[in-house]
Amino acid sequence: MSFSELGLSAEILSAVAAQGYSEPTPIQSQAIPAVLSGSDVMATAQTGTGKTAAFTLPLLQKLGENRGSGRPRVLVLTPTRELAGQVVDSIATYGGHMRLRTTAVYGGMPIGKQISTLKRGVDVLVATPGRLIDHLERGTVDLSQVETVVLDEADRMLDMGFIQPIERILASLRGRRQTLLFSATFNGPIRKLAERFLHEPKRIELAHEGSATDNIEQAAYLVDGHRKRALLTHLMSEEEWGQVLVFTRTKRGADKLSEQLERDGIRSTAIHGDKTQGARSKALAAFKRSSVQALVATDVAARGLDIDRLPHVVNFDMPDNADDYVHRIGRTGRAGARGRAVSLVSGEERRHLSTIERGVKARIDTTTHRAFQPTSTGQARKGSDRSNGRGSGRGGPRRQRSRS
Ligand code: AMP
Repeated sequence: MSFSELGLSAEILSAVAAQGYSEPTPIQSQAIPAVLSGSDVMATAQTGTGKTAAFTLPLLQKLGENRGSGRPRVLVLTPTRELAGQVVDSIATYGGHMRLRTTAVYGGMPIGKQISTLKRGVDVLVATPGRLIDHLERGTVDLSQVETVVLDEADRMLDMGFIQPIERILASLRGRRQTLLFSATFNGPIRKLAERFLHEPKRIELAHEGSATDNIEQAAYLVDGHRKRALLTHLMSEEEWGQVLVFTRTKRGADKLSEQLERDGIRSTAIHGDKTQGARSKALAAFKRSSVQALVATDVAARGLDIDRLPHVVNFDMPDNADDYVHRIGRTGRAGARGRAVSLVSGEERRHLSTIERGVKARIDTTTHRAFQPTSTGQARKGSDRSNGRGSGRGGPRRQRSRS
């Protein structure tokens, strides 16, 4: 399948070619024709699958067909400001040949500037739900001309407690419109939302659920909790890792680890919800231009960060569920590039590893490092050493090796 078979205009095709993309990703080849045909779409798609271009490209094409009034014709709702920024960037990249006015409104930024930008006229509005409600209540945004609504990472928006704002926003739109819903999972609340607001949606599911992690090499080091930081520093220098996105469970943990890595001589910065938007943008920019090697982040802060082809993702603290694990490691091995996800697993966290393996229906290769042998054995994995194989009772020897 090539981009030229999808019904996109010559201008958009050349913008895609300029990005160096030779063929559409699976979500793009299915979603682009569906969006162009005007259908509602309900797509299972994780970060890293090329979903942003899957809706941006056809929407740009549709917008290009006639000039707007200055009131938004496309509304994209995203869970975070970072993801909003990524959508805006994507529109600028592919729609550079059009004279479109695109803006993002999100919390944490002064509202005054957003109000004046909206007043001047906007064709595409990208917003986080809370801030958009704020604008609706002040009467500073007019959604009467919205033709297409995109709910990007809908599962995340619901996890973050945005269900009421989303329902309010969707209920306030009048007339027939096209709605596109993208979500990594389709659980009860998402289905309910879809039933209420989507009209005979075209359902897009990628052939096989695990595909998001196919080009990611996953490994887990069993290590004592208090030696994780030393092991991380050691691996980063021993194996000459390039840039690393490191996940911690708490904001304080992110700050602390980042400071410790600095002391170890690894340029590092932390990004989390307590930092101002300015500080977050600065940290991300430093990471993007490679002036810091490690970006330490919490789950919420990392959601939607657009970082191309990150070679390594590290779970410094293990997530306790498969969804977060998949979201985290999805930051590496993006769209065709290979990546590596390394989890540092303490004795207490071994049960999380088992939960995650059940959730992703795959085994994660566990290993120990000769210089960082764990002293605690944990509960769930008792007996899961090199000679015994797995302890979880699903049969088959566990691949476990010791690295030096
Ligand atoms: P997304 O899932 O939208 O976050 O996109 C993941 C990454 O894949 C982004 O960095 C895009 O620039 C990149 N990308 C999107 N479409 C393609 C494509 N067709 N071929 C290669 N890379 C792509």
